[in-house]
Amino acid sequence: MKALWWIKRDFRLSDNESLYTAVENCSEVLPFFCWEPCLISLADTSAFHLQAQWQALNGLRQSLNLRNSAVWEDYRDIEDALNKVYAIYPFQMLYSHQETGNLATFKRDKRVAQWCREKGVHWNEAVGSSVLRGGNADLRRVKLRQVDYRKQPVLPIPATFKFPCILSVRLPLLSWNDLATKITILKNRKISPDLQKINERNAWKTLDTFLSERGQGYSGGISSPNLAFTHGSRLSPHLAWGTISLRTVFSELQKRIKELQENSVRNGWLRSLRAFQSRLYWRDHFIQRLEAFPAMEEKPLNSAYENLEYENSNVMLEHWTNGNTGFPMIDACMRCLATTGFLNFRMRAMVVSFACYGLHLSWKTIHPPLAQLFLDYEPGIHMAQIQMQAGVIGFNTIRVYSPAKQFLDQDPAAVFVKKWIPELRDCTAVEIANIEKSMIKTYPKAIVDLGSKTKEMKDRIFAVRRSQVGKHETIKVLAKHGSRKKTTMDRKKEKTGQLSLFES
Ligand SMILES: Cc1cc2nc3c(=O)[nH]c(=O)nc-3n(C[C@H](O)[C@H](O)[C@H](O)COP(=O)(O)OP(=O)(O)OC[C@H]3O[C@@H](n4cnc5c(N)ncnc54)[C@H](O)[C@@H]3O)c2cc1C
Repeated sequence: MKALWWIKRDFRLSDNESLYTAVENCSEVLPFFCWEPCLISLADTSAFHLQAQWQALNGLRQSLNLRNSAVWEDYRDIEDALNKVYAIYPFQMLYSHQETGNLATFKRDKRVAQWCREKGVHWNEAVGSSVLRGGNADLRRVKLRQVDYRKQPVLPIPATFKFPCILSVRLPLLSWNDLATKITILKNRKISPDLQKINERNAWKTLDTFLSERGQGYSGGISSPNLAFTHGSRLSPHLAWGTISLRTVFSELQKRIKELQENSVRNGWLRSLRAFQSRLYWRDHFIQRLEAFPAMEEKPLNSAYENLEYENSNVMLEHWTNGNTGFPMIDACMRCLATTGFLNFRMRAMVVSFACYGLHLSWKTIHPPLAQLFLDYEPGIHMAQIQMQAGVIGFNTIRVYSPAKQFLDQDPAAVFVKKWIPELRDCTAVEIANIEKSMIKTYPKAIVDLGSKTKEMKDRIFAVRRSQVGKHETIKVLAKHGSRKKTTMDRKKEKTGQLSLFES
């Protein structure tokens, strides 16, 4: 039987369920990747994401070449690309992983399912995560308790690769320059050296250095925008683009915890690794929300907040996106993102809370520009977190982060602010903390009265929260998307769990 292995956000050989099953079950397997113009032109796609995929694909191609296999790569809409392969290589099976993506990939997958039905091709979507499709929330919880993907043994790299003989010539690769001539957002754009390099080899290196060196300072370190670059695992873009599997990370983490326990190591390592593990669990929990509610890109999870009023000023949006708000901590974060594609959790939460509460920009308005800036853009986590930080989920504690307080707590010596805002390099930390009185000509004045704007938005949110509709809808959302069925004990535990997310 002939199979096509469709690579999408799973650029790896190791622990790859769809590749492994395809090789096990079929006589020939052709790896296939498609740059899809309809996805590339979306508002939540950026050059950062294309760079990550291009590097990941090249890494995969090199590994496949070593095993006498290659990748069929194309640039066109998916049905046309599939038709083109099918004409030369009429396959009976299509293998891919089950993707929980944005609305466009959701609709694209429906079109692919239709294409498969018309051609009589069987599409096998391997489940490479603990995110479950279909059923109600209770059923999913039971299933998860029975078989948790994260705790299953990892799959090895297939021993043989059954590349089709008729395609034995090396298939050409689209260079970065080739892509740049086809894709508008890449025009005149070089590979950005400040982004993490995304490929399978680097994913393993990142995991290795985290578990052996960097991870000791995880607890405490990840709240700081300075320290999180080193002490955070930095695995998020690798997990998002699939250059490593979540199961592999769990498995290596368990080995390391066991080793530390056996050697009775007591120097903060275990505390840090347990904190890391709890965050890994949150990953699929949030992606599951999008899987169960694909409209999340357009609607809040809690319909009571659907008509919440926002001003959505384009001028405010531009100031925020470009890091020119006059609030040093916010501007440093946005400029840091624009160069590195990374920010720690606390600072991400702060820039969202500032935009929604302070600038009255809707979570829907800020979603695409922020997604573009995150190298690790993972639709499920991203949308769930933006809605959560905007206060429109209903059952989370409302948190509004003060940029001034975060500056004092997380960057008291102004290292981060000075790094990203050259206009403030000659200022003292005290002057930066009192920026409104400092009269620095080259740096913008605050674009809003943050206190009064925040109070206005909080009042609007609390009005919905206290309303009958608000209470009613929140109970429904909690039952469908909360982490488990509630008991008093569970509530206490959940409170700690949710808070730990905010404290990270
Ligand atoms: C507004 C907002 C948007 C976000 N968007 C994304 C996104 O698009 N992609 C993304 O991977 N993370 C997102 N996060 C979660 C978190 O900020 C990042 O996962 C983390 O900062 C990445 O750094 P790390 O890999 O060093 O994480 P670590 O702290 O080392 O955590 C390990 C892994 O656990 C997962 N994880 C960590 N925190 C969370 C969380 N709160 N929810 C779900 N999973 C988590 C990630 O896969 C991460 O790589 C967002 C957070 C906020 C507040």
